[in-house]
Amino acid sequence: MACAKRNEDPNLNEIVKTVFIDKIKDLAETKVLPKDFWAKTKDLGFAICDNGASYDTRVYYGKGVVFDLQMIIYFLAQSRALMIGRYIGLDNQFTVHKDLVNQFVLQTEALVGDPLDIIKAKAIALGTDEQTYEAWIADPVFQTRVTKLFLLSLYFISLHERCHVALDHETKLAAIKALPEPDQAAERRRLEIEADACAIDIINADEAQTNQSPISFFAVMMTISTQAIIARNLGSLDEQTHPGTKPRLLTAKERVLTFIAAKASPDTAQKFLATINGTAAYFEGLLDTYSSP
Ligand SMILES: [Zn+2]
Repeated sequence: MACAKRNEDPNLNEIVKTVFIDKIKDLAETKVLPKDFWAKTKDLGFAICDNGASYDTRVYYGKGVVFDLQMIIYFLAQSRALMIGRYIGLDNQFTVHKDLVNQFVLQTEALVGDPLDIIKAKAIALGTDEQTYEAWIADPVFQTRVTKLFLLSLYFISLHERCHVALDHETKLAAIKALPEPDQAAERRRLEIEADACAIDIINADEAQTNQSPISFFAVMMTISTQAIIARNLGSLDEQTHPGTKPRLLTAKERVLTFIAAKASPDTAQKFLATINGTAAYFEGLLDTYSSP
């Protein structure tokens, strides 16, 4: 697997292992996974690599999945930024996150230091006093919420990559190479949407047994938009790994809404609908700003 420099940090590797291996192994014991999913993907390994900030994951069929270190850090920062925005207030729910994305797209000086400082600076600029900010960060409930969102983003991306394998995309990709060029791109985008749908269905089925909440939808939007925005702006993401942008977001939203309409009580569905539509509108706006061709 292409790994410029392997990250050996035990804590970070343990976190990814929890999501990429342990969590899926647990799911295999339940009826949540599609038929043959576990059999086809159980031997996949993973590596965290400092790949010069490719901000991506990549599946190597028959081997495993490479997680870019900077992408993991960026997911953590985004999770904190989204949560801080909610704590600041509904009017600013996405303001801090948008600033963070902007600094990443522009690759500003601020990124040389700790990306979490960007979040603090923006919160203070929005009128939060430093003491309040530090109290939020130190609050175990806040930390639990951020961690949950962060792990869900890793969970979604892990399932997405495993879905490529479970859905035999290696064989399909080989067939796609025989097509004329314009059709190839469309077909590759279709595979991305197929892998997203497979991952979202598993998350939904998993959450249906525990506590259904729109937080997993935040994680899905965050992950897909990261791939779209970073691919377009940094040009470091291989065009072939995660092509397709807005259709992926829209398809993901439809899938989640359909699931909620079918499973949740009318009251719950109503409550989630506003959150999900608001979140989707924000991320679609981000793509309009940063990902137009
Ligand atoms: Zn993919």
